[in-house]
Amino acid sequence: MVHGTSNNNAKIDDFNNLAKYFRQARACLGCSQIKTFDQFEFDGCDNCDEFLHMKNSRDNVYNCTSSNFDGMIALMDPKDSWVAKWQRISEYLYIPTY
Ligand SMILES: [Zn+2]
Repeated sequence: MVHGTSNNNAKIDDFNNLAKYFRQARACLGCSQIKTFDQFEFDGCDNCDEFLHMKNSRDNVYNCTSSNFDGMIALMDPKDSWVAKWQRISEYLYIPTY
């Protein structure tokens, strides 16, 4: 009865991980780098932390990042991103944005 459900469960897990990632993901307002809130707090921005000082400052992470980055995902190269394993999504996102 439950034969063959393991793959489906794996996909649901992937989806939940993806949804969780997007909920936590924030984009640096300085360079548009996307990381999770925790990553910004722990590491700061790889490019701008000497200006934005997000490392170890939750206030600065809030002030210097945005969780509203609809559309920015489409600018990421699906071939090089973690999204690539999500073939259907990466194909969907692979819209030329000239
Ligand atoms: Zn930055």
